[in-house]
Amino acid sequence: MITVITGVAGFLGSHLADALLAQGHFVIGVDNLCTGSLANLSHLANEPRFNFIEHDICNPFDTGRVDYVFNFASPASPVDYARLGVETLMVGSAGTRNALEIARRFGAKFLHASTSECYGDPLVHPQTEDYWGNVNPIGPRSVYDEAKRFSEALVMAYHRYYGLDTRLVRIFNTYGPRLQKNDGRVISNFMMQALRGEDLTVYGEGKQTRSFCYVSDEIEGILGLSRSGEHLPVNIGNPTEWTILDCAHAVLRVTGSSSRIVHNPLPVDDPMQRRPDISKARRLFGWEPKIDLEAGLKLSLDYFKKCLEEERHEK
Ligand code: UDP
Repeated sequence: MITVITGVAGFLGSHLADALLAQGHFVIGVDNLCTGSLANLSHLANEPRFNFIEHDICNPFDTGRVDYVFNFASPASPVDYARLGVETLMVGSAGTRNALEIARRFGAKFLHASTSECYGDPLVHPQTEDYWGNVNPIGPRSVYDEAKRFSEALVMAYHRYYGLDTRLVRIFNTYGPRLQKNDGRVISNFMMQALRGEDLTVYGEGKQTRSFCYVSDEIEGILGLSRSGEHLPVNIGNPTEWTILDCAHAVLRVTGSSSRIVHNPLPVDDPMQRRPDISKARRLFGWEPKIDLEAGLKLSLDYFKKCLEEERHEK
């Protein structure tokens, strides 16, 4: 199979490339490197089945004949999409359309990386796929939330009007090696702070919750969905819910750090709770995550230590 991954130099895109290559497929990877990094692809330099195209998918592009398009291009951490607000809205609209057009041109299958942010600050808990969400359409997170919601509408329209064979994965918080060390996300912040011996910055009281999925589990779930015939959204995430304060303590245990925990202001519209109901993925393709948070943090430790070393060399 010839596959295209947009956002291939990002955290999930690069892991997805590895998984597809391991299955014997060809991968054409597209990225404009606005938040992704070539370092995530350096191990593929001599891989004949991998091709990299540096391109902003907001502008039309052509890959030649392909069988499957995986659309993963977007800034994804709250810090990145706040910095790249208009770019985030554009990649989730014009960019998604250009990716859909590739699939339409070649009759390829299509999988779009959507997000739990479609649920906003959810009033239904845990979140099931039929919940429409509680999203502020004009707040600081709206550049991401509404781009992803528009993308979902566009993907469903290409399915309904053009008969495209599409899938929508709603990805919940995912972590692991290749997370950007400075992307401001909670796991990268806490791991780097703990390793540097700095204070861990818990926003608000830390009672807000997230449910953290290790990257290999997330990728397995995405591949499961890609092989299924489901066109409506499917949650892929780990249903074990953690308060942010407990997450900080888990990071301290795993790193053995004696950093202190301090409290900083809670960002505007920060969702108070988030936890996927994954019964649909279980029922449709028998997927569930295997790696709990502490095990996943241990698996990520070497990566973050390497980031720290690089940081020290840079100084
Ligand atoms: N958070 C925190 N300290 C940090 C970074 C994040 O307490 O240094 C909190 C943030 O307020 C949110 C949660 O951790 O409640 C997850 O934030 P993240 O940016 O990782 O992603 P989100 O799930 O909000 O998209």
